[in-house]
Amino acid sequence: MYTFNPGPSQVYAEVRSYLTAAFDEGWLSAPHRGERFTGLVRQVIADLKAKLNIPQDYTIFFLNSATECWEVLAQSLTPTKSFHLYSGAFGEKWLEYAKALKPASTGQLFGVDELPNLGQIPQDADLVCITQNETSNATQLRDGFILNLYNKLGPNSLLAVDATSSLGGIQLKMIKADIWFGSVQKCFGLPAGLGLMILSPRAVARFRQINERAHYNSLVSQYEKMLNYQTTHTPNVLDIYLLSRVLQDRQPIKTVHQHLLDRATKLYDYFDNATQLTPLVTNPETRSTTVIGLQGPPALIDEVKRRAKEQGLQLGNGYGNWKPNSLRIANFPAIPDAAYEQLVQFFAREFA
Ligand SMILES: *Cc1c(COP(=O)(O)O)cnc(C)c1O
Repeated sequence: MYTFNPGPSQVYAEVRSYLTAAFDEGWLSAPHRGERFTGLVRQVIADLKAKLNIPQDYTIFFLNSATECWEVLAQSLTPTKSFHLYSGAFGEKWLEYAKALKPASTGQLFGVDELPNLGQIPQDADLVCITQNETSNATQLRDGFILNLYNKLGPNSLLAVDATSSLGGIQLKMIKADIWFGSVQKCFGLPAGLGLMILSPRAVARFRQINERAHYNSLVSQYEKMLNYQTTHTPNVLDIYLLSRVLQDRQPIKTVHQHLLDRATKLYDYFDNATQLTPLVTNPETRSTTVIGLQGPPALIDEVKRRAKEQGLQLGNGYGNWKPNSLRIANFPAIPDAAYEQLVQFFAREFA
């Protein structure tokens, strides 16, 4: 059975042995203030920086989910308001959570085949927020766009990027934004329950200046604990351990990225030409590398998902507005090439 669901997604086959090792090595009861655990955190942070090309002067925090990152950014880095460019359900949810805490926050919707208009970026927003890979509609904002946006920010705005379904799969130009975050159940091929937030020196200076301390997960509190490689709460030690194992086994991000790009190119070529379903996104410039969306009439979508499942291929459902008339195929590092070969053979045999 292969699952192409874009989250929770297929975990690495090796997770089975890592779990046994975590148990046998005593990680499940390791004190989170002890030296053994802080040594692990120090190592994971060094490996994340090395394997994902994260600048040495960026700061990394462990949270519990990407959703928590949305809320923490509204709490600790948004004295007044944030501005959100969004095309789908995840970007919209982020805006809703931001508005709940900071009602002056606003957003601008754009279409799946469009790039957002950069002419109207409010110059007084504390944060400008984008979803680098919109998992719900299989779109992606590329490096060139993020760079253009970064150059259009007001002097006191920070750029915050939800990279949940690309972090660990795509090479992201970290210096082109101030805050990046994601969680491990997408491109890291691990069980859910661990979020990562990556902050530039400018973002760290800003939250220290704002000094918001009203929450257990306030960024200043996390910062103070992380000086000693600790967290404010008892963290998901198991997932942090699993992350350390996955990172040690991993190729550098450049290699992972190229592999996913090659696979995505082949899949889009195939679905552009050969099947009854067509890519949900028509503009090649806005198509996601890590999540491939296909659209078709709802009855056909159901039929494809049902027959695929019978053959051990679990496709991802559509999401949000796209639920009935689309399906999604994760192109994540933990899913082997053999799975995509089977998938293409399935489509060629039954829905060409
Ligand atoms: C999956 C996802 C989230 C939510 O992640 P959690 O870890 O479940 O909070 C947020 N944003 C995007 C783009 C996602 O794909």
